[in-house]
Amino acid sequence: MQLATLGLPRKPNTKRKLGMVNQTSMKVWQGPSAYDGRPIYLAITNLVRDSVNRKTGPTANAWIMSAEAEPHTAAKAGDDRSCCGDCVRRPANGEYLKANGMKACYVVKHEAPLSIHRSLKDATPVGLERAKRALEHSGKILRWGAYGDPAMLPIELGRELSSAAQDHVGYSNQWHLAFAQPWQSLLMASVSSFEAMLQAQAMGWHTFRADKLGSAIANHETICPAYDTKNAVQCVSCKLCNPKRGRDVVIVEH
Ligand code: SF4
Repeated sequence: MQLATLGLPRKPNTKRKLGMVNQTSMKVWQGPSAYDGRPIYLAITNLVRDSVNRKTGPTANAWIMSAEAEPHTAAKAGDDRSCCGDCVRRPANGEYLKANGMKACYVVKHEAPLSIHRSLKDATPVGLERAKRALEHSGKILRWGAYGDPAMLPIELGRELSSAAQDHVGYSNQWHLAFAQPWQSLLMASVSSFEAMLQAQAMGWHTFRADKLGSAIANHETICPAYDTKNAVQCVSCKLCNPKRGRDVVIVEH
């Protein structure tokens, strides 16, 4: 008869005990885009490892990605509407942007978005409850839309994850579309002109306006403190881009 030998007690499975809350990046959800029904997914990163973004500071970051294509090739081909929708700064609008003296989207798709996509595209989504636990455990604020537009997601996902985080900031470029309206309580409308700012505010949104150098500023608008202080103030402490603060922000496009 083979007898087992008496050994030391087994180590507790810390990962199981914590429900994987020590995971720094996770695919949370996958499903159809509210814009066109094509498959997208939500990834949250920097839950443990801090972001080195000098403007935002150490936020947890939410990425809304196409499940069908790599972000840099999709953006180049104009095949990024499922996650970026009607955003005027999509690279495919290059000629329009050039003709109007506007800058294209500042997100470098072949860097962080591509690396996140390659590591998480085939992952099984962890689901809402596990993502909420991880956010609560992180103690971080959630930055919606490090890439992609949060309004492409189900609003319940937005509400639950925003509540689980210590605070949240973010914008949507879909503010003029019906499906995005429930996001007014969670996101700022991202606009690129004085006229669009007035239009979005008339619809009930607070606004984040990225406009040309020398553009007029309305009395009720606040210059983004990160811009104004060269990042001495970061999003983690500012948090004005949460509509519950009741402010409207303006910044020079970058
Ligand atoms: S206004 Fe505040 S929260 Fe919004 S982008 Fe600027 S620093 Fe970040």
